[in-house]
This record gives sequence, structure tokens and C-alpha cells, in this order.
Amino acid sequence: MDFIDLKTQRDRIKGGLDHRLARIFDSCQFIMGPEVAELDKALAQYTGVKHAVSLSSGTDALLLSLMAVGVKPGDEVITTPFSFFATAEVVSLLGATPVFVDIEQDTLNIAPDKIDSAITGKTKAIIPVSLYGQCADMEAINQVAKAKGIPVIEDGAQSFGAEYKGRKSCGLSAIGCASFFPSKPLGCYGDGGACFTDDDNLADTLRQLLNHGQDRRYNHPLIGTNARMDTIQAAVLLEKLAIFPDEVEARARIGARYTELLNGAVVTPVIAPGNTHVYAQYTIRIKSRDQAQQELSKKGIPTAVHYPIPLHLQPAYGHLGQGQGSFPVAEAAAAEVISLPMHPYLSDKDIEHVAEAVIETNQNGEAV
Ligand SMILES: *Cc1c(COP(=O)(O)O)cnc(C)c1O
Repeated sequence: MDFIDLKTQRDRIKGGLDHRLARIFDSCQFIMGPEVAELDKALAQYTGVKHAVSLSSGTDALLLSLMAVGVKPGDEVITTPFSFFATAEVVSLLGATPVFVDIEQDTLNIAPDKIDSAITGKTKAIIPVSLYGQCADMEAINQVAKAKGIPVIEDGAQSFGAEYKGRKSCGLSAIGCASFFPSKPLGCYGDGGACFTDDDNLADTLRQLLNHGQDRRYNHPLIGTNARMDTIQAAVLLEKLAIFPDEVEARARIGARYTELLNGAVVTPVIAPGNTHVYAQYTIRIKSRDQAQQELSKKGIPTAVHYPIPLHLQPAYGHLGQGQGSFPVAEAAAAEVISLPMHPYLSDKDIEHVAEAVIETNQNGEAV
């Protein structure tokens, strides 16, 4: 059993993709070929956002978003301590400081009611993360931010395709950022990402930043970088986007089936009212997590921990001086979360097999 199976999907898109790739190889337009603009249009249409700006990775999407809203050395950016490292890393790369705010007990997303007291005169952006594939409470967060005139940048690296009160993730704030890393809900065959915004000026700025701050050939109003999306990856994403709605449906069905089988035995994902979940990860909470992971591995079931160390306890953030106990909800989650095999092509038999093994392992754990 695979933790994430990309082979079944590969067989499904093979015909169309091989055709597209052959065209690119023949044209040799590897950089900024027509597929990139075609993808931006398709992504904008899918999300219902005015501008989609595809680029080189989710990390670069976050970095360029912070640059576009003007984050500079000495600024502060509020975010969650319970995320992948990149979320805070991009803040530090710009010489700004991540200011962590603890998470909600049920969704494990940033707690909106704890944000206001973390805002200072130096706060220049807020980055909520839509963890595991369901959106943070974006309306509540936007409200706190709007009162202080602070832009909100959604880290939607795991939630592309999810809905929040009928609207798509990445279209819920000033800028939304997606990652198309291969194992994300919509993944390419390498690194990729995108920024989404309804703001014409921000879209222009992002397009310049991803191409060396250039507005026309060899004219550079801004300091940017090379964060372009490859033509080949755009082609992969165009083929995958065509089957994505169907895959999002399958993910929701598989997640619901896991929850039905596991409910009561372990802590299963809580979907907040108004949210749909794309289950980038199907993540449960379990006591004696490390032992459970070993036992599941012995039974041939691959699992992963997202994430074992909260960001404020990472060695790279030791200088912030926030030790154990600073963010108790995030710390408790980090000790107990475990993600189960999840992809749109998981069979009923495999779901049942995994659920049975988890229940059995958990019972063993409690007996010890
Ligand atoms: C994957 C991920 C990123 C980084 O995306 P890349 O495309 O790998 O650069 C950022 N934030 C979160 C929450 C992620 O899961």
C-alpha cells in the first residue's frame, strides 16, 4: 500500500499528457510557453478568483506574496506555529519576524480570537494556514485584519480545491497561495505553485517579481527573482485540473468513510461548519503516537506525522526564545497527530484494512 499513489492517476491522464508534452518538446518553449498562460486562466476559472499567477513552488508563492504586500526587514508577520516550516521560513528570509499565535483545538488552524492581541505597530501581514485541506476561519481572520489595515495571505498549500462558505480556498483574502508539489491535492511532476488575487495591482506586482522584477524585456522596476513555472509543469497541471473536481469528490468520500470507521476509537478530523475538506492529509490524533506508527509500519501501513515539532520549537527559531509551553494546543497536537494513507484512488478494501489496523493498534497502546 502506498501513502500516496500517483501511478493510478498517471495511467488516467497518460494519453492527453503525452500529447501535450510531445508538443512542448517539439516547440522547445520550455520557459513561459503558452501552457503557462493557459494554466493561469484555467486556475482563475476553477477558483473564481480574478487573477491566478502560477509560479515555481508554494514556498515562492508565499515569499512573493509577502514581497508584494511590502514586508521588509524588522516587520512582523503573524502566523500559526503548527505548519510546514516554509510558512514561517519565508517571513525570516525577508528579514521579518514570524509572530506565532496558537491554534484551535478542533481544526488545528490558527485561532482567530487570539490574533488581535498579537498585532503590533510592526505587523505587516497575517498568514493563516488551511491545514490538512480545510480552510482556516478566513472571515473571522479577515475581520480582525481589516480593522487594522493588515493584508491576509492564505497558505492554501494543502487546501487547493477546498471550499469555505461556498467559495474556493485561495480566493478568500488579499492573496491565496497554492503548492503543486507532487503529493498535494493538485500536484505536478516537480515543483510548482500559484498565487491568487482579485487585486489587479497585486497581480501585476507578483508577475513582475516572479520574473526578476521585469515589466518588459530588460526593464526592471523591482527587485524580484526567478520563480517562473516551467511550461512542462503547466501542461501536467492542465491535464490534472481536468480530472481534479472528480478527485476532490473522491477525497471527500474516502475521508468520510475513514471517519465513519474510526469514529469513537480515535480523534478523527473535525470539519468546521461551512467547510469542505480535500484531505491533503487524513490526520487523526492518537495517544502513544510514535509506538502506534511503528506498529502500523510492521503491518505494512505507511503513515506520516504532520508535524512532529511546532515551528517555535524548531532549532532555527531558538532565538525567538519561545520554549515548551508557549503554544500548548499546537504542542499537544504535534505529539499526537498521525496521517493515514490518503489519495483519490484508495480502494474500499484498503480503507477498511487501514481503519481496522488503527483500531487494533490503538487498543494495544491503551493496554500497555
Ligand atoms: C507544502 C507546503 C508549503 C510549501 O510548498 P512547496 O511547493 O513545497 O514549496 C508551504 N506551506 C504548507 C502548509 C505546505 O504544506
